[in-house]
Amino acid sequence: MIEIRILCDHADVPRIAQAVLGSVDATAVRRTPVAGGTRSNLLITAEHRSDHTDCPVCDGDGMTLWILPNGTEQRRPCTGIDYEDLLATGLLPHAPRRDVWHRHTPQD
Ligand SMILES: [Zn+2]
Repeated sequence: MIEIRILCDHADVPRIAQAVLGSVDATAVRRTPVAGGTRSNLLITAEHRSDHTDCPVCDGDGMTLWILPNGTEQRRPCTGIDYEDLLATGLLPHAPRRDVWHRHTPQD
């Protein structure tokens, strides 16, 4: 198990989340505001990245469309987290919610 802690400005969260989550297989992600609400603390637990052959988000090719801060999309390494969950966890630009995300396991 890998534990990753990141402290950054709110505006940097989407780009940093994509870069980090695209290099591991996250099992949980939590975003909390810190420093009087001006910065974000990301706590990610993860495993080493798999080959994504059974991934429902990227259809097995390990790549997915990612929304950039300017609103355009680009193919980037898959994070294994679908759009709605990225939005709910606050990992996309202008995402207001901060739900904790956990990877669903077969027994869920
Ligand atoms: Zn994937």
